[in-house]
Formats: sequence, structure tokens, C-alpha cells
Amino acid sequence: MSALPSPSELATAPAAAELHVPSSPIASDARERLSGARRALILFVIQGVPLLGFGAGVWLYLREGVSALNLGLLVGMYLLTMTGVEVGLHRYFAHRTFETTRPLRALLLILGSMAGQGSALLWSAVHRTHHAHTDQPGDLHSPVLGRHGAWDKFRGWFWAQFLWYLDVPAIPRFGRLLDRHRDSPASLLSSKEDDQAHRLARTLPDLLRDEPLVRLNQRYGTWVLLGFVLPTLVGGLATLSWEGALSGLVWGGFVRYFLVQQITFAINSVGHTVGVHSVPTRDHSRNNGVMALLTFGAGWHNNHHAFPGSVRTNFRWWQVDLGYLLLSLLARLGLVWDLREPSPEALSARTSSRMT
Ligand SMILES: [Zn+2]
Ligand SMILES: [Zn+2]
Repeated sequence: MSALPSPSELATAPAAAELHVPSSPIASDARERLSGARRALILFVIQGVPLLGFGAGVWLYLREGVSALNLGLLVGMYLLTMTGVEVGLHRYFAHRTFETTRPLRALLLILGSMAGQGSALLWSAVHRTHHAHTDQPGDLHSPVLGRHGAWDKFRGWFWAQFLWYLDVPAIPRFGRLLDRHRDSPASLLSSKEDDQAHRLARTLPDLLRDEPLVRLNQRYGTWVLLGFVLPTLVGGLATLSWEGALSGLVWGGFVRYFLVQQITFAINSVGHTVGVHSVPTRDHSRNNGVMALLTFGAGWHNNHHAFPGSVRTNFRWWQVDLGYLLLSLLARLGLVWDLREPSPEALSARTSSRMT
């Protein structure tokens, strides 16, 4: 944390300088590309399995509806894991927009990991890269970069929603890279290796110097599993039946996982194509109220790209930012502090006359 700029600098500084990301694109080269079989396996694990689980939920619903317990498990697990993604992975680990206690930081890492979108460090590295090169060469999941014509734009949207990670070979390799440097993760920062995984690691000088955090991060598989075990246990214990355990797994595990995954991925696709571009930025980010509600604030994506270091994404009274509401409450309880916001002058300079 000591390497971070001041709160006011963070809230207004250009993304690349703020987030430690080099200005050259972090693309992979041809030698790093994944084989067809590997891509198919990753696609099946990341998209196929959740889709099958979601299908099981639809089948159960058509057959017997959904009980209050299972609905509660779905909503409760959605609230927990989406909070982990937006407040934890996004606003804390990727952007460092506030400070918090070590136990709460660990909880945010675990909840965010339960969403199964990559470990906190990998998620942060990819996201910092997105901000440093938004909709430019080097952005790892832009839906609009190099896209022309309606069909090509649709393909861009589809790729940003479902397929982009297949073109990021560092994703299956990043955890193993950290494992190989488990005794001294910060040594990755001075490594001369130039593959994509190393270049992504170099976007994390603050996080890699925090060895307890890296150790917690390396239990990512355990945290993903926990996201399925918890609703299974609650469902089984509440009904004292195997059937209750299984339906808890389907609703609180698979259906929740599928929804959180697709809605978060939609920030990459919809968040840069559908909505209002009301704050001047050099990208295609959009404000979208429906996405903002579903993602606890990330859907005010144009606001966020204008002020990526800001703890809040809502700059008008009618813009609901549930993530910021939660952080304001935690701040009153003394559990979070140093909430970083742009100054009123910086805010009005960027937003005046363009926002309605
Ligand atoms: Zn974006
Ligand atoms: Zn961001």
C-alpha cells in the first residue's frame, strides 16, 4: 500500500500511471497461443459447466418450481459473490479505492474468488490492463476494437462476453507462475522474462509485495469450491435431506455462478456498447442503469472509466451504486477508511454540461 499515490491523485490520475501498467500492450505472441484442445477444455470448464448447471436449475423450476429456501440461497449467494467481485476484486484489489482491515480484506478476496472469474491477482492484472489500454491495442477484452459493420460489431460483443479469455494464454498459466515464485512473489517484478503472464504480473507491484495476500490468493481453487459447498451444506442441513443438498448446490451453486459470471462479463461487452456515453473519455464505455443495479455499481461504467480511482461510480443522486452504499456503511462502522473520491472541481470539470 505504501507504493500508492495519494487519495486525491488516485481519484483523478490517468489510469495507466495510477495502476502501474506499462504503456506498451500486454498481448501474447503466436508462440504462447493455446492449442485447440486446451481452448476447448477451458471453454467447457468456464462456460459449458455453468451452462449445464443453469440448465439443471431451469429443468428443476419447470418440474417443481423453486422453494423459498432455494430462492434464498440463490439471492444470498448472488449478493455475497457479486459484492466480492465489485467491492473486493474491482474496487479494492484492482483499483485500491479504499483501505480496510486484514480480516475484511481476506473476506473480500474469498467472496470474490467464489465467483470463479480468476484469482484476485489475475483478475486485477487483466482489469488494470483494460484500464490502461481501454478499447485500444492491448485491451484484452474490448468489444469494439477493430470492429466495423453490424455483423463484425456483433462478433465483437459475442467475443467480449464469452470468448476473450481463450486469447489470453496467461489465464491458465498465471497461478502456476505465482506458485513457482511462492517464496518471493515480488521477485517477479524484476524478472526479465517477457511472456504474457510475466507482463501481467508486473502490473501488480503493490499486490505482489504483500506475501500473506499472495498466499491467500493461491488457494483460489479452495475458494471456488467453497462457493458450491456452502449452499449445498445449507440446503442439506436445513432440510436434513440429500435432495435438499442437491437442490442447494444447483440454485446457490450453479445457477448463481452462471448469473454472476454472465452479468459480470456483460460489463466487458454491454458496458462498452449499450448505454449512454455522457462523460467525455477516450473509450466506448457506457452508463447503463440496469447493469449498474445488477453489478452493484459497475454498470455506471462510463463514470468509472472517467474516474477509475474513485470509490464511487455514481455522480448523480439518481444513480444507484449499491457497492458504494455498502462501503459507506462499513466506513461508519470503522471497518473501511480512506475512501477515495475525485474533488468536486475535478468532477465538475469532467461532467459539466454533458451529464443529464
Ligand atoms: Zn471498461
Ligand atoms: Zn475498473
